[in-house]
Amino acid sequence: MSVIVLIEHTGGTIKKKNFEAVHYATQIAKQTGTTVTALVLGAVAAAEMESLGQYGAQKVLHVADSRLDELHARAYAGALIAAAQNEGSKIIVTLHDIGGRMVAPRVAVKLGAGLVAGALSYPDTEKGFVIKKAVFSGKAFAYVNILSDVKVIMLMPNTFPATKIEGRAAIEQLDVSFGEGDFGVKVKAVNKVTGEVALADAELVVSGGRGMKGPENWGILEELAKELGAATACSRPVADSHWRPHHEHVGQTGGTVRPNLYIAVGISGAIQHLAGVNGSKIIVVINKDPEAPFFKAANYGVVGDAMEILPRLTAAVRKFKQQHK
Ligand SMILES: Cc1cc2nc3c(=O)[nH]c(=O)nc-3n(C[C@H](O)[C@H](O)[C@H](O)COP(=O)(O)OP(=O)(O)OC[C@H]3O[C@@H](n4cnc5c(N)ncnc54)[C@H](O)[C@@H]3O)c2cc1C
Repeated sequence: MSVIVLIEHTGGTIKKKNFEAVHYATQIAKQTGTTVTALVLGAVAAAEMESLGQYGAQKVLHVADSRLDELHARAYAGALIAAAQNEGSKIIVTLHDIGGRMVAPRVAVKLGAGLVAGALSYPDTEKGFVIKKAVFSGKAFAYVNILSDVKVIMLMPNTFPATKIEGRAAIEQLDVSFGEGDFGVKVKAVNKVTGEVALADAELVVSGGRGMKGPENWGILEELAKELGAATACSRPVADSHWRPHHEHVGQTGGTVRPNLYIAVGISGAIQHLAGVNGSKIIVVINKDPEAPFFKAANYGVVGDAMEILPRLTAAVRKFKQQHK
């Protein structure tokens, strides 16, 4: 009857957002008087899997099929269903990220389960099984009651902390038989972004818009990002104009980020841009127009020319770091 949580990894390394999902599942397990089982697919070292115990998982079910090293939505969904049935689980947790979006709806359909995508709260079990989520590009919240016996929850990354406790998860192998169609997509090449902080996992993001005037000015933005250890992002017109690569484009039609700090430089703050960034914990806006809509969503605002402010901000960060070495 345990709460089951799908773990994603990159080349055997489990990223922080998965620990958040285990922590989240652990709180639900406490609410519902059960335990947490994590499902790991593909090649991951035993020590890495055992470390899930530090976030509350009692057990890891491991499907050691090397074909699962790559994300195959049908195979992942099949494995998650098999794991849930193995454990008699009624509550299934995934992340609301690319992997979760490919897998969780398939699982929900097959199990006839209700699903909440982008969960922002623990379930309120006093009122049924009510979970908060954002709707209309973050303009409003919906409180969704899952009525079905089996429930699928897709947790929004960077919503809850990944709190560590004492513990080591016991690993159990799980055999799952897959059909040929489960691996229908062939991954021919993986082009990895290297030498930068990955945007999806970044806790700090420095993002530029059309106010940066052109790609030749990005050096000063990158310098600030480097000094902060931040990832870089951009608005859609910037990517469309090929000033920056498309994987940096955030917003309604781009990526979604929820960092602790989002610094928006020369971005007007259109609703389509905000849709991808308004889950950020702190938003700092640098814009020369005091009427720019982004200031309404900002925690801190600087009115001024980005070309002057960015180098000064970078120098201030550098000085602060030297003083606090
Ligand atoms: C269906 C649809 C989907 C869309 N999806 C997305 C999306 O996913 N992501 C996205 O970003 N957009 C998206 N858009 C586009 C969106 O509506 C805006 O047009 C876009 O976000 C504007 O980008 P920007 O803020 O960089 O540019 P602009 O709107 O041109 O704003 C530039 C800003 O820079 C400021 N500025 C100028 N010079 C300086 C300076 N020297 N120093 C400081 N500030 C300066 C200006 O005051 C201005 O506020 C979408 C639009 C549609 C219709």
